[in-house]
Amino acid sequence: MKGNGKKMYGLLLAGAAVLLLYAGGGDGQVAASAPSESSASNRQIAIVIDDFGNDMDGTEEMLKLPVKFTVAVMPFMPTTKRDAEEAHRLGHDVIVHMPMEPNRGLKSWLGPGAITTDLSDAEIRSRVEAAIDAVPYAVGMNNHMGSRVTADERVMRIVIGVCKERGLFFLDSRTTFKTVVPKVTKELGVPLVSNDVFLDDIYTEAHISKQIGVVRKHLESHEYCVVIGHVGPPGKKTAAVLRQSIPAMQSGAQVQFVKAAAMLPSSPGDPFVLPNP
Ligand SMILES: [Zn+2]
Repeated sequence: MKGNGKKMYGLLLAGAAVLLLYAGGGDGQVAASAPSESSASNRQIAIVIDDFGNDMDGTEEMLKLPVKFTVAVMPFMPTTKRDAEEAHRLGHDVIVHMPMEPNRGLKSWLGPGAITTDLSDAEIRSRVEAAIDAVPYAVGMNNHMGSRVTADERVMRIVIGVCKERGLFFLDSRTTFKTVVPKVTKELGVPLVSNDVFLDDIYTEAHISKQIGVVRKHLESHEYCVVIGHVGPPGKKTAAVLRQSIPAMQSGAQVQFVKAAAMLPSSPGDPFVLPNP
């Protein structure tokens, strides 16, 4: 099974310091009620690590990072249950990493139970429900790939509708500029968090370190940053760079590491700025 998890990671250049949390509808309290210690510059970063559930490289190293983060687990995979339970035991948040059809690439890359745009409404609903049932302790959902699906309003209305029924927030990995997720979550009143920076779309420590620099830059002008990394091909490198960077970020810039759910609800006033292509 290990071989079938080849993923397309390089979906989005996150070079630009892009956006922020986006409003989930509702009348936006200001995000995150985290206690504002005493520091004037109290910044928050939510690390989200994708692609758990398939015993991928870096799984153990990532789970042992010295901060709490959000663990996105693919449903119906060999270690789905084990990874979700272990993440929960260690105090991380678990979300469903829902496989969704991209614009380019093979459907076989998606793994079992994927959402594709050719499915009927009923089939989409039943796949999303089954995926949530397959990932213990899930409090949210984000998309694995999905540049085609997250631009499709019919499909996303069903996916996000099920999230609402089950009390899950949605994290938009923003693999396409055409995402309808902000619109649909707002209409349905489902809390939304959006990705700001991809850490490891290129699998080198130099690139991952550079992306940490992008995160730090982003936090100079924003209170929050949502960062996505991966287990799998870059996993060990990403875990190593994070382990190395975390202490300096915590002390120097007084950055607080939080789980993605801690950033809800976000403010509707936050600007939605698309990344530079
Ligand atoms: Zn993924």
